[in-house]
Amino acid sequence: MEKLLQTLRDIVGDNGLLTGDDVSARPLNWLGQGNRQALAIVRPSSTQEVSQIMKACNAARQCVVTLGGMTGLVGGTDSTPDDILLSLERMTNIEDIDPLGKTVIAQAGAPLQKVQEAVTDAGLQFALDLGARGSCTVGGNIATNAGGNQVLRYGMMREQVLGLEVVLADGTIISSMNALLKNNTGYDLKHLFIGSEGTLGIVTRAVLRLHPRALSTNTALVAVNSFEMLTSFFALMGEQLSGGLTAFEVMWQDHYQLIAVKSGRHSAPLPADYKYYIVVEQQGVHPERDSEQFSAALEMAVQQELLVDAVLSQSETQAQSIWNIREDIEGLTIALTPALGFDISLPIKHMDAYVSDLQQNVSKTWGTAAQTIIFGHLGDGNLHVVISVGDGSETTFTTIKQMVYQPLQAIGGSVSAEHGIGLEKKDYLALSRSKEEIALMQKFKNMLDPSGILNPEKIF
Ligand SMILES: Cc1cc2nc3c(=O)[nH]c(=O)nc-3n(C[C@H](O)[C@H](O)[C@H](O)COP(=O)(O)OP(=O)(O)OC[C@H]3O[C@@H](n4cnc5c(N)ncnc54)[C@H](O)[C@@H]3O)c2cc1C
Repeated sequence: MEKLLQTLRDIVGDNGLLTGDDVSARPLNWLGQGNRQALAIVRPSSTQEVSQIMKACNAARQCVVTLGGMTGLVGGTDSTPDDILLSLERMTNIEDIDPLGKTVIAQAGAPLQKVQEAVTDAGLQFALDLGARGSCTVGGNIATNAGGNQVLRYGMMREQVLGLEVVLADGTIISSMNALLKNNTGYDLKHLFIGSEGTLGIVTRAVLRLHPRALSTNTALVAVNSFEMLTSFFALMGEQLSGGLTAFEVMWQDHYQLIAVKSGRHSAPLPADYKYYIVVEQQGVHPERDSEQFSAALEMAVQQELLVDAVLSQSETQAQSIWNIREDIEGLTIALTPALGFDISLPIKHMDAYVSDLQQNVSKTWGTAAQTIIFGHLGDGNLHVVISVGDGSETTFTTIKQMVYQPLQAIGGSVSAEHGIGLEKKDYLALSRSKEEIALMQKFKNMLDPSGILNPEKIF
């Protein structure tokens, strides 16, 4: 092992290799919790170095876990004391912005927010956005096919990636840095790596698609009192705002009450006794016209008696304070530990019945003190569910997982809408994918990483 560590040190230099206390001083996640266990953390500064590292690790049959911003929520970056962690923290450059072709080239360790800010300065917009923007990285976003707040209009990370560069388990560099919107020259290899959670290759750089920068953003927090009103309101906003609807985020009453009121972390913009709260957002390039269109759409919803209350933000600060309630994951963690969080998707037509059944099952099993908090990207059919029953034992958590996941199979739902499978959802993958699909995934894994050294034990 000393020999391998010396080889890695020769590749990345003393500063690029952490061992011993320098490893355990590193946290397990973005919140700074826990202590890392690993043989070493290797921190390359170029694709060539990543390639050399993988050649050496492959020859030694050494397992490698890739680290981005560690904001993934499914144990995808968990490591054992025998693993090498490969961190992209020294590969954070924005290499090029092409305003005409509307593309940006970024190294995989660049934080999402850095990309967003760099292209905004050039009058453009990178359409992926999520609460962890300050910490999560382009490579992590690609490896998890991240979703976020604007999927409704722009799609997931997959839709933002035009090309990428990836280092395979044996060190081969696949440079697929396509910058064209149209390029049908054989298999589009990038798709194999997007969403592969570090199991098929290490993403080192990417060509990302950009859009014209929005010149206006209109945000409102709206309350409705039935699921039927909620879906009618969603349909109306889609129609009236045409392509301009960028976000339709819903918080069930318990979520709003807990975060906006009880947590003491926010000032509640609306009373807390409505059934559903919706963050609705429109973006456009004609500020005056967009704002009139947005107000008219809300007015129409009032006339059709779809909404019972609303606050239309008058400033960026007000809009941000609405989003802060929706995005306050830390507040949920503080209020609900021990708890289990889920990221599921299901057809909107089944959502109301699914949620009611789940709430009833949880209360029936653990009593009314148990909490089932629901919120999420409803416009994408994606719900986040947090369940806290006052007991964090493995047996209880397994029962909760079965309660959440099992019913999804019959209604065509997915056990992971955005976060991936990692370690957390391995046992439930078969509820969402057929055994033939899983067998094919395993064939790809065996072909690209025959020794199984890349992020072992994850997904399957
Ligand atoms: C507050 C908060 C809000 C969030 N909101 C959303 C949301 O709205 N939508 C959403 O989709 N997710 C969300 N997430 C989850 C998370 O931010 C995303 O999954 C994100 O894409 C992970 O990026 P990361 O850089 O932190 O990856 P990490 O957590 O470091 O890694 C995630 C996985 O990708 C692999 N990986 C990382 N970098 C690379 C690379 N360069 N090459 C190959 N594999 C790699 C890792 O091995 C691991 O398997 C949220 C998380 C938090 C904490």
